[in-house]
Amino acid sequence: MKKKLIAGNWKMNGSLAANELLLKGLLAGIGQPPCSVAVCVPAIYLAQCQALLAGSVIELGAQDISSHESGAYTGEIAPAMLKEFGLRYVIVGHSERRQYHGETDEVVAVKAQQALGCGITPIVCVGETLKEREAGKTEEVVKRQLAAVIHANGHCISEVVVAYEPVWAIGTGLSATAEQAQQVHAVLRAQLKAASPNADRIKLLYGGSMNAANAASLLAQPDINGGLIGGASLKTQDFLTIIAAAV
Ligand code: 13P
Repeated sequence: MKKKLIAGNWKMNGSLAANELLLKGLLAGIGQPPCSVAVCVPAIYLAQCQALLAGSVIELGAQDISSHESGAYTGEIAPAMLKEFGLRYVIVGHSERRQYHGETDEVVAVKAQQALGCGITPIVCVGETLKEREAGKTEEVVKRQLAAVIHANGHCISEVVVAYEPVWAIGTGLSATAEQAQQVHAVLRAQLKAASPNADRIKLLYGGSMNAANAASLLAQPDINGGLIGGASLKTQDFLTIIAAAV
C-alpha cells in the first residue's frame, strides 16, 4: 500500500506571526505521521516556511506556478524560482485559479509540465461545479480536465498527484460523501490506468470541506489516497487529526 498524502492549501491566508504559530504547533504535535504531509503556502512566505520546516517531516508546496520559464511576465513566479525554495509540490489548476484567473485546461497542462520539468510534483486539481453535477456532467468534466494533463505530459503522468475537488464542496462545509468521492476517484483511476502502466502508484487526493470529523471515512475509500485540505489546514488540532486519520 502506498503512503497517503495530506496536503494543506492555505490559500490567501496567513501572516508571518500566524504561520510561525501554526507550523510550530504542527511540528510539536506531529510525531511520526502515518502519511506524507505538506503545506502549500502563499509564495511570499516560502522562505519563512522553508526555514521553519527545515529537516522536518512536513514538506513544502506552492499554490501556483507560471506556465512560462522566465521573462516579461510581471507578477508571475518561474518554476526554477520555486525550486530554489526546496519545494516538493505545487498545486496547479485549482478551481479558484480556473474561475478567477481564467486558467484553461491547456494552461493547467503546461503548468504541470513546467513543474515536472524542474522536479516539483504538481498536484493537479479537477472538479465539477454544482451546475455541471446537476446536469449529469461530472464524469465528462473531470475526464476532460485530466485528459489535457495526460496528453501534455505523456509518460511523466505517473509522477503527478491528482486532486478531485468538487467546486460545490470547496469552502462550503458540504463535503462530497465518501461514496460520491470514491465514484469519481474510480473514474479517474481508470483513466490514468489507460494512460500509464504505473497508474496504481499515482496518488488521488480528495478536497472540499474535508475536516477532522469526515476525514477517516473519506480516506478509507479504496481510490482515495489522501486529502487536499483548505480551511481545516489552518487549525493546528484539526490538521493533526486529519493527518492521524491517513493510515
Ligand atoms: P476547503 O477544505 O476549505 O473546502 O478547501 C478545499 C480546497 O480548495 C483545497 O484546495
